[in-house]
Amino acid sequence: MVQVVVDKPLAQGFDYLWDAQKLGLEPAIGQVVEVPFGRSSLIGIVIKVSAHSDFDIEKLKGVQALAPLPPLDSAVLRLMNFASQYYIHALGETIIPTIPQMWKKPDDWKKIPRKLAAAEERKKKKNQEALSEGYISAAQLNEEQKRALNALAKCSSKKQFKAILLQGQTGSGKTAVFLNWLSEILEDKSAQVLILVPEINLTPQLERRVRAYFPDKKMAVLHSAVPEKQRGMAWYEAMTGEAQIILGTRLAALTPMPNLKAVVVDEEHDPSYKQQDGIRYSARDLAIWRAHDVKAPILLSSATPSLETWMAARAGRYEYIRLDQRAQGASLPKVHLINTRDPQNQFSPGDVGRPANKSPITKTLVNAISKNLTQKKQSLILINRRGYAPVLSCSACSWLSSCQQCSSYMVMHKAGALGRRPLLSCHHCGLVKAIPEHCPDCGNADLKVLGQGTQKIEDSIEEIWPNARVLRIDTDSSKKSKGAEELFQEVHNGNVDLVVGTQMIAKGHDYQNIGLVAVLDADSRLFSQDFRAAERLFAQLVQVAGRAGRAGLDGQAGGDIYIETQYPEAAVFQYLLRHDVDGFLAHTANERDEAKLPPFSYQGLVHAEAKSLMKALQFLGDLKARLRAAGLITKGLKVYDPVPKAIMRVAGTERAQLVIESENRKVLQEVLEALDHDLRENSQGRISKGERIRWLIERDPISI
Ligand code: ADP
Ligand code: ZN
Ligand code: ZN
Repeated sequence: MVQVVVDKPLAQGFDYLWDAQKLGLEPAIGQVVEVPFGRSSLIGIVIKVSAHSDFDIEKLKGVQALAPLPPLDSAVLRLMNFASQYYIHALGETIIPTIPQMWKKPDDWKKIPRKLAAAEERKKKKNQEALSEGYISAAQLNEEQKRALNALAKCSSKKQFKAILLQGQTGSGKTAVFLNWLSEILEDKSAQVLILVPEINLTPQLERRVRAYFPDKKMAVLHSAVPEKQRGMAWYEAMTGEAQIILGTRLAALTPMPNLKAVVVDEEHDPSYKQQDGIRYSARDLAIWRAHDVKAPILLSSATPSLETWMAARAGRYEYIRLDQRAQGASLPKVHLINTRDPQNQFSPGDVGRPANKSPITKTLVNAISKNLTQKKQSLILINRRGYAPVLSCSACSWLSSCQQCSSYMVMHKAGALGRRPLLSCHHCGLVKAIPEHCPDCGNADLKVLGQGTQKIEDSIEEIWPNARVLRIDTDSSKKSKGAEELFQEVHNGNVDLVVGTQMIAKGHDYQNIGLVAVLDADSRLFSQDFRAAERLFAQLVQVAGRAGRAGLDGQAGGDIYIETQYPEAAVFQYLLRHDVDGFLAHTANERDEAKLPPFSYQGLVHAEAKSLMKALQFLGDLKARLRAAGLITKGLKVYDPVPKAIMRVAGTERAQLVIESENRKVLQEVLEALDHDLRENSQGRISKGERIRWLIERDPISI
């Protein structure tokens, strides 16, 4: 008899009979199986093996098939159990989505052994092409880096859990240091190490660097852009212990690794470590729990640590290692704040070099870019908005290009970007429409764009510098042409002078000839209802500033970063001006402490989605009332009023939320569990009976 969990929001497992003769093996916890469920069948995981059932044996059904896999190991099952409890998600729903598709197709299970062999052959060929790109041995490290490596080695020598913050500006050699550290750990021939990166776009570059260090080790690369079969294989190699290096995005944190000996979380502050649907886990936090559970060290690396991590390091709960110099001797980029309200920074009639059309870029910035061009250096221009313009408007009435399904505007994309004609597209629900020839409300033919996105900036810089080679990098251009990696390669090869792009260009790329970085729309993220907005903006500005002046010559100037803003006096910019990461974090910590916001308190969120906003709010209001009636709103707990979400309507669904906060983790956990229980009683799955409201409980939300 076995108990099996399936991918459903059900708290309990189900009992099945086990026919060892038919299945060819004795039952074991962690096995992946196919079981009959209702009128069809489902994939499940064995979580218990027992001699008896509380149910009538006669009525029990049998396990149908067994996947050709070893059982999931006990450590990964402990992790799943923890994640399921902490994030208030059923166990089956937590485990099963982490298993690659290839292992969830019972029809294929019989064919798999042959496939494995074929993949093996391909792997061998690939490994022979190992490169030596970016290899810096321990002996080549500078003094500061050597000290960091020694401190790390000390942490790992004890074979105990230790969380370590490695804080150092971009280009200080954090990657070089942690790869040398991992190379010591991997001298143990059976050891496995996990390297987490925030974004798919960052994996190819890091993958090449890791290969250079470990040409003979098997590496499993896991992220959503890896083709299905390859991912299935990589996961298999990780779970059998064959792959020693597991490199991937957040989902890799949940991969079975029976011999895990060390973890690295690169850019640990990055919001993309937080899963935003289904089980809303933080891969960084789970990785820390996991390292603790298997008694291994975990290194969190960043130029701008999250407030949570930074405070833990300052308080001595984490080991704190710093790299304060730029490895190749380049100095820090010089920060310039351009006050867009100051007329001196703007073109006036009669100015030499004034563009024919109104320029969305200030005169000061145009001059700086021109100068950088004459010095044969590249410029990066960052604007966090893809498309041509964020809104289309009527010049005669108040019509705006609102999305009919969402409470947001449809973005205008110029011809050739998404389709052959210019289009309106909603970035929230994906709705695409032709541009109306006349205003749908008043018939006026004069429609105007408001604001600007990457495409419009691209047009204007082509107009201002007709001889410069311009490249746009955003999700549209990287989908359409050759993929992001090849676009980045164009920059590396020096085939472009001006790069305009979204935050995709800000991250991780080790460009060699960027003399200037410009940020055009920083203010749009300065004022936001999300209390983490400033922290994110600061991290992004530091990150993009780090793209400037990485060129390899000792003592070379670090390049310039220009930020256009109406509010140069804002704290974010002032700390950036002084390159004062610690000052900014201390300032932010003070603000949060005063408001008792995370990390000085803990939060949970109940999401509710309905056809009408009133119903969603009512549902959450009732929930709050029940909490109060049950005496659960005690002194240490704050339950806010239900409110509509920042983007209230998406794809025709109205969305509201209820924030619950406590300075005590345990108090919060107990209330969330009580809520979960209450909601389940009155729901089918996660849809409430009656009004049919879809709900979800989230732990540690990062955007509210
Ligand atoms: P980070 O991860 O902090 O951004 P990297 O490890 O990527 O820093 O190093 C930045 C650049 O400096 C890389 O091109 C790297 O190869 C180079 N580098 C790092 N350390 C050294 C060193 N000791 N000697 C020479 N080059 C180095
Ligand atoms: Zn109109
Ligand atoms: Zn929409």
